[in-house]
Amino acid sequence: MARYTGAVCRLCRREGQKLFLKGERCYTEKCGISRRQYAPGQHGQGRKKLSEYGHQLREKQKARRYYGVLESQFRKYFDMANKKAGVTGENLLSILESRLDNVVYRLGFGTSRPEARQLVLHGHFTVNGRKVDIPSFLVKEGDVISIKEKSRNSEKIKSILDSTSSRVVPKWLDLDRNTLSAKVVAAASRDDIDIPLEEHLIVELYSK
Ligand code: SF4
Repeated sequence: MARYTGAVCRLCRREGQKLFLKGERCYTEKCGISRRQYAPGQHGQGRKKLSEYGHQLREKQKARRYYGVLESQFRKYFDMANKKAGVTGENLLSILESRLDNVVYRLGFGTSRPEARQLVLHGHFTVNGRKVDIPSFLVKEGDVISIKEKSRNSEKIKSILDSTSSRVVPKWLDLDRNTLSAKVVAAASRDDIDIPLEEHLIVELYSK
């Protein structure tokens, strides 16, 4: 599956806020957006007043970049959200949260979403006891996500678990640190999602 392979700090600078795409580095003074607080590119330092459409577009791009999702996939998630009962914007975020790579990140099994995605691709996780190596796999209530038995002793996984030991796991995931597995106890609600997004702008953009 295609994915963005350019410099990720540029994405944060474009959106004007941290998207936490580089793990530990995002919390240090080496963070790209702390050092250069303007958009990338030749005209990045010029002042720009955004139109209504511009605001909507930036919000959609920000959401895509937080979760590492390409446009066509993002549009599919929107269509799924639109068909569900409830508030479309909140449904959309709930679907994005249920991606396996995001769940791995939320559980502290990866320091960033891009790293979690790579670990999933490398087959380090199981869902309900079966290996799943598809980052876009959507987990549902009752699913149990675990680090594979063989992977638990890997130095990389151990060092990730050390560095994320203080991370607060959202309440829709019930993590057992002894067995390194977690159960999905509910779908993520808007209150569980700490990402500063105005999802109604995305709905307005796609509803034109
Ligand atoms: Fe974004 Fe992290 Fe780079 Fe900072 S270090 S600009 S938060 S990806």
